Amino acid sequence: MLQEMFDKIDADADLTKDEISYLLTLEKEDELEQLYQRADQVRKRYVGEEVHLRGLIELSNYCRKNCLYCGIRRDNRAIPRYRMDVEEVLETVALAEGLGYRTVVLQSGEDLHYTADILVSMVRQVKQQSDVAVTLSIGERPRHVYEKLFEAGADRYLMRFETSNPDLYKRLHPDSRYEERMAILTWLKEMGYQVGSGVMVGVPGQTFDDLAQDILTFKEMDLDMVGVGPYICHEATPLAGSPNGTVEMTLKVVALTRIVTRDTNIPATTALATLRPLDGREKALQVGANVVMPNVTPVKYRALYELYPDKICIGDAAEQCQGCITGRIMSIGRPISQDYGHSFKRNTAK
Ligand code: SF4
Repeated sequence: MLQEMFDKIDADADLTKDEISYLLTLEKEDELEQLYQRADQVRKRYVGEEVHLRGLIELSNYCRKNCLYCGIRRDNRAIPRYRMDVEEVLETVALAEGLGYRTVVLQSGEDLHYTADILVSMVRQVKQQSDVAVTLSIGERPRHVYEKLFEAGADRYLMRFETSNPDLYKRLHPDSRYEERMAILTWLKEMGYQVGSGVMVGVPGQTFDDLAQDILTFKEMDLDMVGVGPYICHEATPLAGSPNGTVEMTLKVVALTRIVTRDTNIPATTALATLRPLDGREKALQVGANVVMPNVTPVKYRALYELYPDKICIGDAAEQCQGCITGRIMSIGRPISQDYGHSFKRNTAK
């Protein structure tokens, strides 16, 4: 039965939900090794050897929402809040560009201080000042705001749906609606954005079937990028005391996401590296990932963008992160891309 599934993967045939669920239960080392080798082959065949770097800038840790798992949720009064102004963002983008990053990811909690006008002006100035692709990851906004930001030059948008199980989604997100999130992801694609989404692995209440459905949903949505990271429990949230997701399950989801979606960009996430600092990113790159997002946020803000605890690299200046990450990528024999790293599905360079 397992060999049949491996044969299907080798023949580039589509796996069923039951087959994906079954592959997620594999635990024997030799079977996992065979799965991972196949994921690595698919990665090679569809997106090549290069690893794309995206400079991550965490603009603000204010958030109007209260997602149950998140360390910067509205009701966490224990963390000091910060917000970068446009000038500071521009300086940080220039630093990222100087380090050779051809994409910047501007990410924040859902912070309405950044009005549509402020965001449009920020994106315009970034595009005028720097030769970089711009990815936004700032949460849910009205449709017309996404349109204006695309016109201003934003290339990509990242917004995870976190789980494709609508009941679990509802439990985890008291002030968001599953249907709305999925609708926004569809709009973004219609507008011409390269769209990224993803899920958490191991969040309380999630099943193997949920994860298999998540992976099929990535494919159905024809996403350009898929980020998959382990759930890491934050003690200042209502999920305090729950067990973390595991490195092993996250690697299986990364591998199967590569096998099923084939030509998406898949990051080796910081959350995974947080659970396995020694070689978490390298492992992810060897089972299907092809993107890394080094942090460029000014060091004084790093510790405050605490989506989950013990996040790695919070004390390292952007230059150190770059040196560390390029060294890790080269240590596994992979070249670093000098290009923007646009979607393999549609090259929509602006
Ligand atoms: S997950 Fe995002 S929207 Fe939810 S509380 Fe955290 S920052 Fe806000």
